Amino acid sequence: MTTERQQAQTLTNATRDDAPGVIAVDHVSMTFPGRDASQSVHALDDVSLEIRKGEFVCLLGPSGCGKSTLLSIIGGLAQPSAGSVAIAGVRVDRPRPRDVAFVFQESTLLPWYTVLENFRLALKFQGIADAGWRERAMHSLSVVGMEQFAHHYPRQLSGGMKQRINLARGLCVGTEVLLLDEPFASLDEQTRMVLGEDLSMLLARTGKTIVFVTHSLAEAVFLADRIVVMTARPGRIKASIDVPQAHPRSPDFMLTSEFGAIRNDLYALLRDEIRATVARMREARDARG
Ligand code: ADP
Ligand code: MG
Repeated sequence: MTTERQQAQTLTNATRDDAPGVIAVDHVSMTFPGRDASQSVHALDDVSLEIRKGEFVCLLGPSGCGKSTLLSIIGGLAQPSAGSVAIAGVRVDRPRPRDVAFVFQESTLLPWYTVLENFRLALKFQGIADAGWRERAMHSLSVVGMEQFAHHYPRQLSGGMKQRINLARGLCVGTEVLLLDEPFASLDEQTRMVLGEDLSMLLARTGKTIVFVTHSLAEAVFLADRIVVMTARPGRIKASIDVPQAHPRSPDFMLTSEFGAIRNDLYALLRDEIRATVARMREARDARG
């Protein structure tokens, strides 16, 4: 059985560097300067990564390893200390709202606007202020089952509803690239599961290139075409693991031995990483005497 997504995937194996949605991270390092050298933070170290058009990549790694930093650099919100990022062959040196949309962990809906007004603002920012904005917004809301809340204010919605709307807004702006930074992190387990399923359904159809940051092993295996595991800070790429399962994925996938095997591999990779970090911290303490 070949799904549309699998076919798209086969085609994209041969994608050119300048195809829209192709992301190339080239030897990116990031050091945040502190008040003096001892306070500077080396967040990323020589990260190189190629993401194909239409690919769904999860970034997984211990807290503080530079996942959000890498996502910001890919989206042009931050500039790396060394190296570069290109999208569709064009170097990223500033935010590119027409090409790249962000969905953050916390709801970024403005509280004094209704849901629909928030969408209008996002579309305007994106340069899509045409007459069709309302239909476009309502369509995206209906895709996540939230069209009846278009005229509600954010405070009238639960956390799960707000994240659904954040997701819809990220999809609605029509960019080739979608960057999601732990969009379900503040939600309870059940809501996460349902949203993850919905996301798998949605993304099977969009053909977007997606980078999704998570610290949940199960979420990564359920959603990703490929999981990139990062080391503890300074973040480097430790491993890249394919999840050869077509989208949309049903919850039954989580019960399969393939799912379990990949999750166990990821756990082993991360556990080693955390052990190494603890050992390094002990060494540093002993060296201080
Ligand atoms: P993750 O998302 O993997 O948890 P981050 O990318 O947020 O990690 O952060 C990586 C490291 O860089 C952390 O030690 C964090 O404190 C530091 N950091 C992130 N942003 C800044 C900043 N703007 N200024 C200084 N340090 C920062
Ligand atoms: Mg983060």
